[in-house]
Amino acid sequence: MCDEIYFGIDIGGTAVKMGIMNSRGELFASDTASVNFDQYETPILQTVKKVSAVFIEEHPEYKDKLKAIGISATGQIDSRTGVVSGTAGHIKNWQDSRIKEEMEELFRLPVAVANDANCAALGEYWIGAARGVEDVIVITVGTGIGGGIITGGKLLSGARGIAGEMGHFSIKSDGEECTCGNRGCYERYASTTALVRMINERMKKGELKAFADNVSGKTIFEELGKGNAKLQAAVEEWIDYVADGLVSLVHIFNPSMIIISGGVSMQKELFIDPLSVKIKDRIMPAYRENLEIRQAALKNNAGLAGAIYNCICTLIEE
Ligand SMILES: [Zn+2]
Repeated sequence: MCDEIYFGIDIGGTAVKMGIMNSRGELFASDTASVNFDQYETPILQTVKKVSAVFIEEHPEYKDKLKAIGISATGQIDSRTGVVSGTAGHIKNWQDSRIKEEMEELFRLPVAVANDANCAALGEYWIGAARGVEDVIVITVGTGIGGGIITGGKLLSGARGIAGEMGHFSIKSDGEECTCGNRGCYERYASTTALVRMINERMKKGELKAFADNVSGKTIFEELGKGNAKLQAAVEEWIDYVADGLVSLVHIFNPSMIIISGGVSMQKELFIDPLSVKIKDRIMPAYRENLEIRQAALKNNAGLAGAIYNCICTLIEE
């Protein structure tokens, strides 16, 4: 079988990952480079163009075989035009970057661009934990909350390709202010950042004994593993928040699988399993049948794989 060869690029807020993959999702070569080495004074797209050209020069055996380029990018990406239509605000010189146009000009190849969270979802659907599952919600729990929704085997992209922004639906109308301008957003309560903030606050108030100099998702779960009951209760509250959002999403999208990614998703017994119980307890019975809640499988390559899968799908559609 003659597989087609693709160039995948995953542009994050700190680094860009590049890789050569075939149409079966096998990765042949990869490399990463920093994009914030001078605090974004050099625009990210300029860095990406430079390092990706070098990467391809370093792998001449693939150069003439490349069929297309799939790009996953941070921020709100208009997937029809491949332009950055909105950013989280902290990345200089990124808004309005014309990724698709400039990369097509540089490489003389078709380019498809999508948001990184959506690409991560597509990666899990293509070659990861949700392979062959047509209705999936993929949620990344980390600094914020991101994700992608696959329904009927297709990514829900919305009018401008920016659907599935799960961090910013409100779970508390009178809740905390969010960077997006709304109140009570899901990620203000259910992200790893929110968990760390909550634990720090309780330690400050003396409700929890200090257990680490540097409280992080990692140190929290390490301490939980030792059987800290008070910490356990606090983490339970946080898992309730994570469940809050997912219970609503299950009723809207009726998935047969929810995939959790991000650092904390490594915690099966202490996070994924109790989360699964909480979700199933609170959804209506018909939604519960066959619903599975699982850890992501692809880790760091999900965005790259999803970018290439998105590219393959886009080429087929055109
Ligand atoms: Zn928000």
